Amino acid sequence: MGLSPERTVAELRELQELTGDENGAQRVAWTETWERARQWLREKVVSTGADEEIDQAGNQWFTLPGASERALLLGGHIDSVPNGGWLDGCLNVLAAVEVLRRIAEDGTPPLTVRLVNWADEEGARFGRSLFGSSAAAGSMSDQDELRERRDADGIALPDALAEHGVGLDRALEARGQLDSAAAYLELHIEQGPVLESLDLPLGVVLGTFGVERHQVTFRGQAAHAGSTPMDQRRDALAGAAKLELEIREVAKRVGGGAVCTMGGVVTKPGIVTSVVETAECLLDQRHLDATWLAEMLSNAEAASRRFAHEEGIEVEWEKIWSIEPIPFDDRLLDLADESVREVAGSSHRLPSGPLHDAAEVARAGIPTVMLFVQSLRGLSHTKLEDTKEEHLELAVQALDRLTTKALEAFA
Ligand SMILES: [Zn+2]
Repeated sequence: MGLSPERTVAELRELQELTGDENGAQRVAWTETWERARQWLREKVVSTGADEEIDQAGNQWFTLPGASERALLLGGHIDSVPNGGWLDGCLNVLAAVEVLRRIAEDGTPPLTVRLVNWADEEGARFGRSLFGSSAAAGSMSDQDELRERRDADGIALPDALAEHGVGLDRALEARGQLDSAAAYLELHIEQGPVLESLDLPLGVVLGTFGVERHQVTFRGQAAHAGSTPMDQRRDALAGAAKLELEIREVAKRVGGGAVCTMGGVVTKPGIVTSVVETAECLLDQRHLDATWLAEMLSNAEAASRRFAHEEGIEVEWEKIWSIEPIPFDDRLLDLADESVREVAGSSHRLPSGPLHDAAEVARAGIPTVMLFVQSLRGLSHTKLEDTKEEHLELAVQALDRLTTKALEAFA
């Protein structure tokens, strides 16, 4: 019967029907709805004869044995944010199911093929993204902190995981799952506007952005809004305002896809009758190249000191979080380009702003690549998330081609 991309689209609709409501997808990890989605997936895979295993971090694996025990991995996540879209995460799971069916029909593949449905990619309930993939990649190092995390109802993370048979302390044992991995492929919706603006259905992902996140605090002096002359103010918000405009110039200067965002500014005392004493800014900077990312950070730091000096205020930087850029595998990038060109005519390489499970796998040293399919209006994490059906079908075909090429190349 061969590959049936229309079936993938039909199954995506079926999953949406089963686990969504009028507000969107509700497959939040470590909930009953999520478990229902995993059960549904299990039933979909049965016909391929693949063996199922749930690892110590809750990742769901389906293994189709090949001539070699070394494995080509196809990954995705069936969990969603609350009120999420119908494609984020589950597209790659269901496209991979279709590819698995095709391979099972064709006979024994040269490499073992494994579909992994990563546990809790979104981190929607406990604020910890990439749970299952970071455990498997061996990069999870925040267990002590995770033990203390609670959801909005006050339920502790370890208790919620235990309900699904996962022990936080043992999660890192999932690491063994990547021992036999030869390569990792992931198809995802773009969740941004680039491919649509280029009028291209598909693109090849160069890697995931490195991220530098800081809290930048400007400190001046609270003073009466009526009695303090303009030239005698130490206005913390003036520093923040100058910095917000400057980071746009920094991103422009550095280029290469650089993005800088001041996502929030909290001012104190924050009343209409006082000059601002402290302005706490949240700054997020991203680039695919580590050197340029460092350059952006030092540019922003230098600018903030200059503005502090100009305004007679102080500035202090505190790191919130950072991650290095994670470039994907050159050989797989070429194979992905070929695959996309074969099904869609032309290809385009682009970086990924959001992090994905693929980044964790790549960090673990496994050759990795991702395909993006166009997102309409760039929207995601909302029920408005959408992709044309014909593009979804091309995406399934491209993943299938890429899988075939990777099976040959890594055998
Ligand atoms: Zn996703």
